[in-house]
Amino acid sequence: MKVAVFSTKNYDREFLQTANQQSDNKHEFVFFEPRLTLETAPLAAEFPAICAFINDRLSAEVLEHLASGGTKLIALRSAGYDRVDLAAAARLGMTVLHVPAYSPRAVAEHAIALILMLNRKLYRAYNRVRDDNFSLEGLLGFDLHGSTVGIVGTGKIGLCFAEIAKGFGCHLLAYDLHQHPACLELGVKYVELPELLAASDVISLHCPLIPATHHLINSESLQHLKPGAMLINTSRGGLIDTSAVIQALKSGKLGYLGIDVYEQEEELFFEDLSNTVIQDDTFQLLQSFPNVVITAHQAFFTRNALANIAQTTLSNINDFAEGKPCANQVKES
Ligand code: NAD
Repeated sequence: MKVAVFSTKNYDREFLQTANQQSDNKHEFVFFEPRLTLETAPLAAEFPAICAFINDRLSAEVLEHLASGGTKLIALRSAGYDRVDLAAAARLGMTVLHVPAYSPRAVAEHAIALILMLNRKLYRAYNRVRDDNFSLEGLLGFDLHGSTVGIVGTGKIGLCFAEIAKGFGCHLLAYDLHQHPACLELGVKYVELPELLAASDVISLHCPLIPATHHLINSESLQHLKPGAMLINTSRGGLIDTSAVIQALKSGKLGYLGIDVYEQEEELFFEDLSNTVIQDDTFQLLQSFPNVVITAHQAFFTRNALANIAQTTLSNINDFAEGKPCANQVKES
């Protein structure tokens, strides 16, 4: 099957080609560097399948354009599908497949990395020592052991995160619509969101971005926060109302912010913009805080995860090509 791959980086090419070589069915991948938008959708004309990543735009308009060019399959190389208009895909008779779990540990471990980095101020310590400044002023942290960690969303990633936090000796609280038996076994206590926010020293977000969770962290919910708490978001930028979080950072209500995702990341992340003037003032303001660490959507980025993404994407495309039902199909709920 001919597949137009959008948002291609060298690592996508390498891992997809390796998976294709190992697959019984071989597909013809054509790699395009640009993101999928209305302007770049014509590149996929006459391709029965396209392969898209996190920030590719799969709005109704883009899907209509792809469908008119003969595209029938959207193979996502991601777990999240919040940028796909699933109703439009269904109306156009397009199949949408995703990679539900490629390495929940990769994301959970990155969330922990952000916590350690912020708590022990490693970003400042690293630069200081390189500058022969061996002062410890301003680097004071706290023991994670004995602290309370609140997990919002205890699915695959939330569970891995809970296991690691348990290893540090943290008390674990969680908020989810469903209680995960493995989390209960670990000793996680499920509470409502306001109680979790009020009791936690560290809050880590691991729920999907859906209408019900859009701006879950907003000026109202931030009122409940334990003063000086740490907020970590490795899930999706839209879970947080960035302006409200900036106000909470300014007032000191929020003590630390670690994010791997940002609501307006589409225009920034995955590109080298070091020679350009960033026009996003909110992002620039966030960067200016001494207690904020931002990584550019790299939580998934381990070789284990990339190999799993490529293998599952190949197996998804194989299922579709052979007309088999695919367990990784996403539909509007
Ligand atoms: P999952 O589906 O296994 O778990 C999500 C959990 O959130 C479920 O337990 C679900 O019940 C819960 N949930 C749903 N609605 C909720 C609500 N309104 N309030 C509270 N909890 C709710 O998903 P996962 O594999 O653990 O992934 C979680 C998210 O992580 C994904 O949706 C994706 O956005 C993000 N992610 C980020 C990266 C990255 O590189 N930064 C990589 C992969 C996934």
